[in-house]
Order: sequence, then C-alpha cells, then structure tokens
Amino acid sequence: PRQKFVCGNWKMFKTTGEARELVRALAPLLQGAAGKVQVAVAPPFTALAAAAEALRGTPVELAAQNCHFEPQGAFTGEVSVPMLADLGVKHCIVGHSERRQLFGETDEGVRKKAAALLRAGLLPIVCVGETLQEREAGRTLEVVSRQVRGALEGLAAADVARLTLAYEPVWAIGTGKTATTAQAQEVHAAARQLLRQLFGAAAEEVRIQYGGSVKPDNAAELMAQPDVDGALVGGASLKAPDFSNIVKGAL
Ligand code: 13P
Repeated sequence: PRQKFVCGNWKMFKTTGEARELVRALAPLLQGAAGKVQVAVAPPFTALAAAAEALRGTPVELAAQNCHFEPQGAFTGEVSVPMLADLGVKHCIVGHSERRQLFGETDEGVRKKAAALLRAGLLPIVCVGETLQEREAGRTLEVVSRQVRGALEGLAAADVARLTLAYEPVWAIGTGKTATTAQAQEVHAAARQLLRQLFGAAAEEVRIQYGGSVKPDNAAELMAQPDVDGALVGGASLKAPDFSNIVKGAL
C-alpha cells in the first residue's frame, strides 16, 4: 500500500520569521502522525533556509514550489535544483496551475523540471488539473491526460515510481469549492490507469494527491478514496492546527 503524503504549499506567504514560527507551532502537533504519513511543507524560496533549520530533528520534510531545469547559468531570477538540494530540500512542486496560468509554464517546461529533479535525487510533485470551463465542456479527463503525458512521457518507469502527481482542479483552488470525493476519485483513477498504460507497475507506487480547498473537515473523506493518496494544501497549510488536522485525516 502507498504511504499517504500531505504537503503544505505556502505559496507567496511567510517571511523568514513567520516561517520559523509556523514550523515551530507545527512540529509538536505532528509528532505522532508524521511517522505514519509523509508530511512536507513548501515555503517560498526566501524562507527555505530558515524553515530547514527549524525543521531539523522533526519528521517534517522540506519542499520548494518551483525550480529551473538547468543546474546553473544566466537565468536571472531563477533557482536551480542543486541550489535547492544544498538547502536540504527533498521535494519540489512543478507545474502548479498558478505557474501555468500566470507565468506561462508549459507541459514541456514541467517535463524538463521533473527530469532535472529526478536526476538530482529530488522528488517532483507534478500538478495537473482542469479549469471550470474545461470541466463544464466535459473535457476533464482529456485535459488531465494531456498534462500527465506532457509532463511525464519519456521518463523511466523507475523514476516515475518516485514522483507524486497532484490533481488540482483549477476551479477548486482557493475558492472553497472542493471536488466531491466521487469527482476526485474518478480523475485519480483515470490518471492511474493512464500511468499503467505508460509505465506499467510503477503506476501502483505513484502517490496521487488531491488539491483544492482541502480543509480539516473534508480531508479524511477525500483521502479515504482508493486512489487519493494524500493532499496538496494551500490556504489551510498556513495555520498549524488546520494543517495538523488535515495530516491526521490521512491516518
Ligand atoms: P487551496 O488549498 O488554498 O485551495 O490551494 C490549493 C493549492 O493550490 C495547493 O497547491
């Protein structure tokens, strides 16, 4: 069975001092659960070092929210995978819908980033998900399949087994409108079926997180679905009690 994996995506919130404070509040609340559930937090780049220090000795792992696919170079404003590794970062979110919609991220870019992370021994969290317009047009599975193929095709099955897929319907992000358990399970099952076609048995090892208005009161029900292996949590990950209650929902 796949170990559940819950990651907090802090987005563009928290200064270094605030990040330290949140980690210190979170660590004791997660003491028991974090051994059974894999837990990570993804602060902004500027707070990674402070968070890494505050996380030392806790079971909570460090994630980043983005990376560049080249190890170094003339890429003003970008941060490379070796730079993240240097800070103790273990996971990295790639292809978040905010990056796709607001910063022009493409499937090809997502694929290059995922490959760069895997080459360096870091673990990508690859985000996919349809817009409201696409869902209403009945194109959800087509869009998610295209994104999964676009992000992962060409990777070795052994690498795919290590990564996490995050299904985040765009209409559920930051809106308070969570996908129903049936909607989430339908897309997760379809994504896993596609992974089976593309990568065989590795598909059984891929964790598929759900993201989009995950809260303490809906997390357990979502993560009880057979193909929902955890959660990628935005807003509710900024409050220690809420995030810890979501993690406990995975037990
Ligand atoms: P919310 O939990 O705030 O809806 O955000 C979800 C998300 O985008 C996580 O990456």
